[in-house]
Amino acid sequence: MKNLKLTSLKSYDNKRTVITVDNVKIGEDFVVIAGPCSVESEEQTIKTARKVKEAGANMLRGGAFKPRTSPYAFQGLGLQGLKILEKAKRETGLPVVTEVTDPRDVSWVCEYADVLQIGARNIQNFSLLKEVGKVDRPVLLKRGITSTLEEWLNCAEYVLAEGNQNVILCERGIRTFETYTRNTLDLGIVPSVKEVSHLPIIVDPSHGTGRLSVIEPMSLAAMAVGADGIIIEVHHNPCEALCDKDQAMPPDVFAGMMKKLQKLRACMNGINQCREDKRSRDSENP
Ligand code: PEP
Ligand code: MN
Repeated sequence: MKNLKLTSLKSYDNKRTVITVDNVKIGEDFVVIAGPCSVESEEQTIKTARKVKEAGANMLRGGAFKPRTSPYAFQGLGLQGLKILEKAKRETGLPVVTEVTDPRDVSWVCEYADVLQIGARNIQNFSLLKEVGKVDRPVLLKRGITSTLEEWLNCAEYVLAEGNQNVILCERGIRTFETYTRNTLDLGIVPSVKEVSHLPIIVDPSHGTGRLSVIEPMSLAAMAVGADGIIIEVHHNPCEALCDKDQAMPPDVFAGMMKKLQKLRACMNGINQCREDKRSRDSENP
């Protein structure tokens, strides 16, 4: 891939970027970001935040600016939503990830957000990318609905070129001929990103599948292929969700999935340990 001056693995001496947000290390730990699709009210956000924290999530997500397909759909609470997220952070200690959609909002949204999300629909909004490149908040850069890996990394390149080195890539599914799932979650992109870039990559199985029943297996699969984390939509009462209710995970299902992720992590650590042991035995007795 040409012209990846700052995002390629080679450009970073084959080391990997680790991004620290409060006590969370993205690129080192497996990070779970969870919370509602959109901030609907203080009660909904704080209830959900408490539940995901209890289950072991590391960060809180929630949209205050919602880029919706229809102009008549709920567009988010804006500033009021950001203030609710700030309160949810005070109550739970969870750092906040929230989307920014307009370059004019970037600097003041930073006062409320720990991580700025760029949505799939805005990935080639180059003035927005340049603006988030100038601030000191990490950027969660979703893959565009039809982006190739090269196009996506070029979008990250825009951010890094402005000075902000802290970009987290997020695979959120791409559009294919399949309609059973909302998008096609491309997990092959995870090891592919690891092959060519030093940036951490997380997976969004909520938007990637759009189906509650498919989110847990794809979250486990994301961990198995080496993703640095997942981002999951959780709602304390999914039938009432104003946005993306079919993929909203109830808190008890989320808690069950977190237990399975912990077990998988332990299995993977065991396998890695066996590999390490074999390697050192082989080097002692060649
Ligand atoms: C979201 O995470 O709230 C969202 C709208 O996702 P995407 O941009 O991936 O569709
Ligand atoms: Mn959503």
